[in-house]
Amino acid sequence: MPERSTLLRVEHLRKIYESATGDVEAIGDISFTMNAGELVCVVGPSGCGKTTLLKCLAGLLPPTSGLVEMDGSPVRGPSPAMAVVFQEYGRSLYPWLTVRGNVELPLRHKKLSRAERDTLVTDAIEAVGLPHAARSHPWQLSGGMQQRVAIARAIAYQPEVLIMDEPFAAVDAQTRADLEDLVRELHTTRRISTVFVTHDIDESVYLGERVLVLSNSPTRVQEDLAIDLPPERDQLTTRALRRFTELRTHVYDQIQRAKLGQVAPQSAR
Ligand code: ADP
Repeated sequence: MPERSTLLRVEHLRKIYESATGDVEAIGDISFTMNAGELVCVVGPSGCGKTTLLKCLAGLLPPTSGLVEMDGSPVRGPSPAMAVVFQEYGRSLYPWLTVRGNVELPLRHKKLSRAERDTLVTDAIEAVGLPHAARSHPWQLSGGMQQRVAIARAIAYQPEVLIMDEPFAAVDAQTRADLEDLVRELHTTRRISTVFVTHDIDESVYLGERVLVLSNSPTRVQEDLAIDLPPERDQLTTRALRRFTELRTHVYDQIQRAKLGQVAPQSAR
């Protein structure tokens, strides 16, 4: 198997929000690397700085100090190499555009022929299972379907890194399971490099090849855990594996330690 190359490098990232009422140190010191084609989940207690980290990765927020590097170049602003899927699908889609129009919109900034654009849009809408809804408007679709549109828009754009910020937090349990399987399937078939942020421990273990456990704010990486579950995953058999239970228990324990400010990680073995 060819060796994977480093795609994303985060070095001593620190973020302090400055305001009239006082400074908030959201991120203390985070370093990690991600290889091309990896699916890395980021999990941590609420308010620990997950969204802040994602915004710094995507170039939406300047770090106070430290470095985010994509393909060897520093990220200094919104990066055209990244696509972000947010939790609030309702606000991320344009209600006056059809599903097709929403998926197509970011591609207008790329130098593509009409035919290339059409192919990418059709392919992405099919990949998320929505060809029958291509001419519908977002408000005619369920929450889960709207989030599929947001995912289609992100993959049609062909980003080098797909960043997902608690994307399924607002949908019901069954829809969430279906969307998790969609992320796994897209990752298996397309090897899209993905950073997936969640506060749901089971979700992080089910989806990830790696899980970065973050400490309480000011955040550090509590543990960088390899998820040694088989790559073929499904909701019933994977979640019933003893190893799945061991890993989720381990992450849960690490998060409890993180809340207490205990740094020393325990082995997941
Ligand atoms: P998470 O996504 O893990 O819930 P956030 O990144 O949203 O955490 O927030 C991390 C910390 O930074 C929290 O203490 C939060 O209150 C603070 N914070 C987030 N955004 C701002 C902001 N714009 N100004 C000041 N403090 C902020």
